[in-house]
Amino acid sequence: MAEADETRRDFLNRLAAGAWALSVAPACAPPARSSGFDASRLPSAEDVWDWQLWMNSLGPRYTGGEAHATFVEFLARSLEETGLTVRRDGFRFTRWEARRWALAVSDGSGGGMVETPVASYYPYSGLTPPGGVEGDLVYGGRAPDLSVPSDVAGKIVYLESPTPSLDFARWYAEVGALPGAAGLPDRSKSAAAQTLSAPDLRPFAEAGAAGVVLGWTDVSDERAAGQYVPFSRPFQGIPALWIGPTAGERLRASCAAGGRARLTLEGALHENTPTDTLYALAEGETDEIIIVNTHTDGPNAVEENGGLALLALARYLNQSPPGMMKRSVLFVLTTGHFARPYVPSIGGFVKAHPDLIERTVAALTIEHLGALAWESSDDVKHAAPADVEIGLAISARGALSALFLESAREEAFEPVVAVKPNHVERFFGEARQLHLAGAPAFGYIPLPEYLLAEAPHGHIDKVDKHRLHQEIRMFARMLHKLDGAPAAALRR
Ligand SMILES: [Zn+2]
Repeated sequence: MAEADETRRDFLNRLAAGAWALSVAPACAPPARSSGFDASRLPSAEDVWDWQLWMNSLGPRYTGGEAHATFVEFLARSLEETGLTVRRDGFRFTRWEARRWALAVSDGSGGGMVETPVASYYPYSGLTPPGGVEGDLVYGGRAPDLSVPSDVAGKIVYLESPTPSLDFARWYAEVGALPGAAGLPDRSKSAAAQTLSAPDLRPFAEAGAAGVVLGWTDVSDERAAGQYVPFSRPFQGIPALWIGPTAGERLRASCAAGGRARLTLEGALHENTPTDTLYALAEGETDEIIIVNTHTDGPNAVEENGGLALLALARYLNQSPPGMMKRSVLFVLTTGHFARPYVPSIGGFVKAHPDLIERTVAALTIEHLGALAWESSDDVKHAAPADVEIGLAISARGALSALFLESAREEAFEPVVAVKPNHVERFFGEARQLHLAGAPAFGYIPLPEYLLAEAPHGHIDKVDKHRLHQEIRMFARMLHKLDGAPAAALRR
């Protein structure tokens, strides 16, 4: 978008806002337009992009790890520089860390072990000695039809784990989309969905198996690479690795032919690891609160860069005239999204601060910004434009979705779709617990296929600098609208 166009449109918006302020507000005023929005108070696209590149250069920021802690401290320091007082909820837990993984397989013909490409490891599964664990291979079935093989003790079990479809038509009622035709497909296949379906390995651990190999069956080797799935499962008590479909076919043949495998998953357990949730209140003129939240942990450039948007919005408020916001804005940056059995993320915040939740009139949850699409290998994910991930927004409140669509329209931000979940289970992301706590909650959560995948470059090639900044502008507009709308209207 040309810079000149943007300036002209903003000028027209300011004029319109001024005109609106002079007119007599009707008794039954519609929700406020984003009057007062001024893009020049936001950090520039270049500034935000610098933060993004720096964040990505830290590498994966798994809960409580050094890279994650560095990012959290950067956010804390940067928020304080905007004049906010940053407070913390501290947690301690046993952090599981993988450092080296490998798989060697013999095909049962009497030959030696051959190294097999590994796609990734199963987080919080188990660890092996440096030399790995070795045993006969045994096939345990295809999820969800799995059985623990008899006399599995000491063996390496091979399981096939197909990815489920994202069944959007059944999960959601569409509220609106931009452009009109760019809704979600009825169904879609995405590697990231493996996190919903990957099998629980604890029955295999209890039966004494030495390790588990899980095979992707219906996404390509490329899509399977680096996927940190399933995330936020409890300790499994057994080391486990993922392999792509090409290696999977060979492994299944080896199971049938009496082959053996050596599975190595070296790492460490860090007991008593500290990790902090941050929160900071930008005081308004009333007691009412608008929560703006995200999580800070994640495997790549997109999951999770929402914190950069929160920082940009905090700077925006700091640069704005006093009294611009009537309501207070509570920034919440939680830890634990990727270790939820042990660190409670937004659910923990809700529990610890009922007084703040009580005052909340709206919650805006921001996740996964600037995402370009990585088309699924066997499915067309959305109509147009093909190279941009659709901006999925989830809320049970039609009013919040309407304000979002208005903000997107003003920013000419496409494609987006606002949906209402048919079941709370499908209210993905950090907004769900706020919704369950009774706050009018809105979650912006695009779901690209690489969302959970780590890669040497952090998938930074799939983050678009301008789209990222456009989303931040859209949320600044939405913040004004949330501030201007009557509390009762936001609950509709
Ligand atoms: Zn996220």
